[in-house]
Formats: sequence, C-alpha cells, structure tokens
Amino acid sequence: MNKSLVTLLDLKAQYESISNEIDEVVLAVIRGGQFIGGDAVTNFEQRFANFADCKFGIGVGNATDGLEIALRSLRLPQGSEVLVPAFTFIGSSEAVTSAGLKIRFVDVDEYMTISVESMRRNYNPNCSTILVVHLYGQPCDMNPIMQFAKEKNLRVIEDCAQAHGAKYLGKSLGSFGDLGVFSFYPGKNLGAYGDGGIITTNNSDLALKCRMFANHGRISKYEHEFEGRNSRLDTLQAAILNVKLNHLTNWMQRRDAIVKLYLEKIEVSEKFQVLPRRDSCTHGNHLFVIKTENRNQLVAFLDAQGIQTGIHYPSALTLLPPYLEDHKQYTETFNANSYGEKVLSIPAHEMMTNEQAQLVINSLNSY
Ligand SMILES: *Cc1c(COP(=O)(O)O)cnc(C)c1O
Repeated sequence: MNKSLVTLLDLKAQYESISNEIDEVVLAVIRGGQFIGGDAVTNFEQRFANFADCKFGIGVGNATDGLEIALRSLRLPQGSEVLVPAFTFIGSSEAVTSAGLKIRFVDVDEYMTISVESMRRNYNPNCSTILVVHLYGQPCDMNPIMQFAKEKNLRVIEDCAQAHGAKYLGKSLGSFGDLGVFSFYPGKNLGAYGDGGIITTNNSDLALKCRMFANHGRISKYEHEFEGRNSRLDTLQAAILNVKLNHLTNWMQRRDAIVKLYLEKIEVSEKFQVLPRRDSCTHGNHLFVIKTENRNQLVAFLDAQGIQTGIHYPSALTLLPPYLEDHKQYTETFNANSYGEKVLSIPAHEMMTNEQAQLVINSLNSY
C-alpha cells in the first residue's frame, strides 16, 4: 500500500484548522473540574436541536445507545417487530434487540435507503415501529414512509448517524419521526474526540423519558422512577462539539462542492456507477459511494494512484452471523444482499483540496 495522497478522511488536518479554539475549551473544561453535565452539555444539546429543527436534544454516550434509549422511550410491546433496512451499520439493528424488540428486515431501494414497497411486503400486524436509516447522508423517502406509518399506526425512529444537516424537501432529518438519533463517532460529519451521540425530538414526554433512561431513570440525584442506564454525553466532548458545530455548515458546503465537482466531471462508465441522489433533497454527503462489479481491481487501481477507498459495508446485515439463519426464512430475495460486494466509498471530505479532488476525478476517468 502506498502512502495515500488522498485519504478517506483527514481528522488531523481538521483539528489543525481549529486547534486554537479546541485547545482553549478542552483546557477550560479540565480546569473547571466539571466532567459530567453542566453548561457545555446543555448549550450543545439546545444548539444541536435547533440545527436539526427540533425542540429537544438529549446527549447520549453514542448513537447505538441513543437508538436503544429512543426505542425504550416509546414503551412498545415487548417482542413487537421493528422494520429495519437490510443494508446499514449493525448499530441500527443491535439497538432493536437490546431494547427487547424483534428485527424485521426490509430491502433497500436504488438510493440504498429503506424500500417502501419492501416495507409493505414485510409488514405484519406484530410490527410496532419503523427504523429508517439515512445511509451515507441520503434522505429516506420520508413522505410515503410517514404515510405508511400513519396508515398502520407505527412509530418512526430515524437513524441519522450519517445525516447531520441533511434535509428531505427542505425539512431537517431527525425531525420527521417520533425521535431521531445522531452519532458523534469521530469519523462522522460532526465528530467528537471519542464516542458521543444525541437524540432529537419535538415530543416533550419522549424527551423526558429519554433523558431519564440515559441517566439511571432519575429526575433528581437520588429520585429514580424506573431502572434506566448510564449513557451520557461527556462534558469534554460537548465542549469540543460546540466548537465544531460552528464550523459544520462551512464543512458541509465544502463537501457539497467536492461532490458537485465529482458529479460534473466523473465520466459515465460501464465499469462503475455513481449512486443516484434523491431530488429536492439536501444530501448530508457523509460518504460518496459508487457501485462496481469488479471492486478489488478498482481498489488496487486507485490505491496505486495514492487514493484511499473504503467499504461501507462489506455485507448486508441479513448475511451476517447473528441474522443469517432467521433471514433464510424470508420469502423475498433482497437486492441488499448483493450490495456488500459492490459498494466503494471514494474520498470526499471537507479538508480535500481541489487538486486532490481533480486527482480522484482523473483517476476514475482513466480507469
Ligand atoms: C455510526 C453509526 C451508528 C452507530 O453510531 P455510534 O455512535 O458509533 O454508536 C449507527 N447507525 C449508523 C447508520 C451509523 O453509521
């Protein structure tokens, strides 16, 4: 492997571009001596909720916990089923099982988001909830999804782990369903310097339930109304996220500019296809993904030119050991099952220069 000229992500360069601000707030937290809760957390929760067009934000330890806590706050019948897309990160489905619920997988459409047709086919009366995932930052088709939810009286949770700032018909993701969950894993578009996540909602009851679940079921220090758990956003991480949130819109614009350049200049080829983008939506541009039949060859070709690539993800969930046996019972053949062999993520991050973007374009066009 060459030393890459263009990496999938450059967190070091990102830090260097804001190091003065970051160093100052990190030191301030340490010197202040408050490490759980406090103003940094409260400010960030409110600011991020505003950013996602929601009234409430509840910081949590990570998005996998956030999804579980969001599901628990709905007080769903134990063992009821949650419709989950077959192609996503395993955190989406793990949360369903940890919340005492059952996963019902659904195929994905050509945008790699949950297929409304497959959802209708896989629905049964034991289903209580739809968990949509805005994969790669691509908004799910929320209007028909919300309509189906209404028709069948289903709750909706949005996994927005990859979709900070993305919008569907002008409305922020994380504000459509009962609850939304965002991740601040370092590599996400808004990343902490460790784990972190937030639950967003417009429902004050659910907001309170989530806050209590995430903090030992309590309303004050030793008043525990029920058994919860411990999953909070650290003060240090909140202080860092407060700084980074100020830069997020600029970073998103930069990602968008790179993607625009790609869409304009990458020539259509039989050897690979760029994923389609949903009309009238703002893509979160977490990942720029292409599909190719001969992935190993393309990976080696790009690597030789100093371009790093990634695979998100090498397998549909339905083919992974925890789910494979159950999935064999399904009558529907999922398109998602073949995508793990085809998808390839190409660098498109906020720290890239135009020259780096041009190198990626030239390389793909000469493949
Ligand atoms: C990253 C991610 C998660 C899990 O987020 P964590 O904060 O790492 O727990 C869940 N779902 C999707 C789609 C993700 O990309």
